[in-house]
Amino acid sequence: MRFCILSREDSKSKVITSRMRQYLEDFALVYDKEEPELVISVGGDGTFLEAFHTYRHRLKDTAFIGVHTGHLGFYADWVPEEIEKLIIEIAKKPFEVVEYPLLDIKIHPVDSNEYQHFLALNEVSVKSTEGTLAMDVHIKGVHFERFRGDGLCVSTPSGSTAYNKALGGAILHPSLNALQVTEMASINNRVYRTIGSPLILPKHHVCELLPIYQGRNILITIDHQTEVYKNISRIECRVANEKIRFARFRAFPFWKRVHDSFISDERS
Ligand code: NAP
Ligand code: MN
Repeated sequence: MRFCILSREDSKSKVITSRMRQYLEDFALVYDKEEPELVISVGGDGTFLEAFHTYRHRLKDTAFIGVHTGHLGFYADWVPEEIEKLIIEIAKKPFEVVEYPLLDIKIHPVDSNEYQHFLALNEVSVKSTEGTLAMDVHIKGVHFERFRGDGLCVSTPSGSTAYNKALGGAILHPSLNALQVTEMASINNRVYRTIGSPLILPKHHVCELLPIYQGRNILITIDHQTEVYKNISRIECRVANEKIRFARFRAFPFWKRVHDSFISDERS
């Protein structure tokens, strides 16, 4: 089997990365950065996001696994102390795969039909660099609300524990094929009105965000990457057809990860 390892730049992650590579090569696995079947990220959830985007073109043929060298992560859920066990598991059998939904994002410019296409593992967030963000929100092609405020966030189920959670969104189990829209400080008064609650949309319900004023800078962040856009007609979000595949070597249920990350990681 072909594998590669993406590491965070700190010394602990680097040491673990070189140890893992050595062990895996001792088991006759082949290091291949171009066409890996297994991508191991060593660091945090942020490192995992980078690994995902690096191999985004190979989602069908690649499974991912995350080792954390800081605190427990949602994607990086193996601890360095477990890596010997992990390597034996990787080496000995074809692994089980668990799939999680992704978010499909199309950014359409005003003056052409050529949109930019992205996938997000966590979310897309939209803000303004020039004061209040003003956007029309359409759901399934129908106008839903006119939003004014700091920003909007559209997240995946596995991203629901990240930015979405800080915005008061619900935590969604990744077995649900859905996306969630949350608000950042919407203006609500007698003139302006938004729903105020997070919305959860099923697959095929497209959510579009349309800037009300052209020519203003709009800040679009997809996972860990931010770009400034001008003159876009709409941002189209839907549950993606593609999924991310995790190599699963032991049970670590989602709700247990939620508990251990946010409530307490005592084993009692
Ligand atoms: P970062 O500033 O290091 O990320 C913020 C925190 O989110 C880190 O503790 C990160 O874990 C954690 N995180 C990432 N994905 C997560 C997930 N699916 N569930 C729970 N926690 C998660 O930046 P980053 O590492 O490049 O990560 C980018 C992500 O940060 C974005 O996708 C967004 O979700 C999140 N973010 C959150 C806020 C907020 O909560 N107010 C604001 C901006 C961005 P690690 O330390 O293990 O990397
Ligand atoms: Mn981080």
